[in-house]
Amino acid sequence: MNTISRTQLLGMNCHQLEEYLLQVGQHRYRGRQIYKWIYQKDVNSFYEMSDIPKELRQQLDEISVVSIPRVLKQRVSKDGTRKFLMELDDRKRIETVVIPQGEEREARYSLCISTQVGCPVGCAFCATGTSGYQRSLQSYEMVGQFLSSRRELKRRLKKNDDSLISNVVYMGMGEPFFNYDQVIASVYLLIDPQGINIGQRHITISTSGEVKGIKRLAEENLQVTLAISLHATNDHLRDQLVPLNRKYSLDQLIEAVDYYIKKTNRRVTFEYVMLDDVNISRVHADQLIKMVKPLLANINLIPYNEVEILPFKKPSSTKVWQFYHWLVEGGLNVTIREERGGDIEAACGQLYVKER
Ligand code: SF4
Repeated sequence: MNTISRTQLLGMNCHQLEEYLLQVGQHRYRGRQIYKWIYQKDVNSFYEMSDIPKELRQQLDEISVVSIPRVLKQRVSKDGTRKFLMELDDRKRIETVVIPQGEEREARYSLCISTQVGCPVGCAFCATGTSGYQRSLQSYEMVGQFLSSRRELKRRLKKNDDSLISNVVYMGMGEPFFNYDQVIASVYLLIDPQGINIGQRHITISTSGEVKGIKRLAEENLQVTLAISLHATNDHLRDQLVPLNRKYSLDQLIEAVDYYIKKTNRRVTFEYVMLDDVNISRVHADQLIKMVKPLLANINLIPYNEVEILPFKKPSSTKVWQFYHWLVEGGLNVTIREERGGDIEAACGQLYVKER
């Protein structure tokens, strides 16, 4: 059966599914039943929807489709982190990562979602950035990463637990705010209490500094966390590390973050990847303190995960702690991100780059 002419049901909210079922001559409540099968049970075959009459299952199979991305490959770290290489309907490939949050036996997982195939930003230290950009994802392809990952986890862990994934971060391949509408549509699907039901405060959207997106997010009535991939403390360095800085300077970025905080009264996280001999000197610490101290914000330090094809190096733990202490003494709220999945090439986009 050719999927191109069939209606994509994944990505529809409950109301849209009810309307669709009405349109095809069925009762509205059938839409609610199908909504639960898709978003609560990760089922994408109509034939597995056991409370739907046989004739309707057949009819739906002829006219519609639920395209959950296929897991082509997965790598499992000894710390339980899993990286999935997934294939979309047009055979484009993306990467999704799940990271255990607790003791392995009853772990809850955090899911890192990709928002684009490749990434147009091209950060100098990022494997995804070297791989070029192909296209943005639709909201159903982002929610599909959630459903596919949860289904895979349930299968592998032999746990029929719908709440295995409790946190979602938009930090995988791509710049979420270059794909703003689809990202926000996917957030609404993730937080629906009748469906997937992730708590809003358990969702983080990370941007490399798309100022317009930050201001738009400030206007949404959402309780999600905003993270800014900062990585540099002056325009000269940031122009080289995060090329989006050539469009929006640090002053413009900080002004947008300040606007967001005042509008939402929500704390923002600045992500800061630590690159040896590049951005972790005393001067950088002082610049960072000056920039971030006036804001309601945390700093999350991320010791770099080295990527074979890139020249950047991970700093020693002495240098990591030195930088941390400078920032803490300067009055900032600082955490160091625990390394996860180091043995399976945890850097964003590495599995994808190897595949290509
Ligand atoms: S770090 Fe993020 S924004 Fe930068 S190139 Fe990689 S995926 Fe894109």
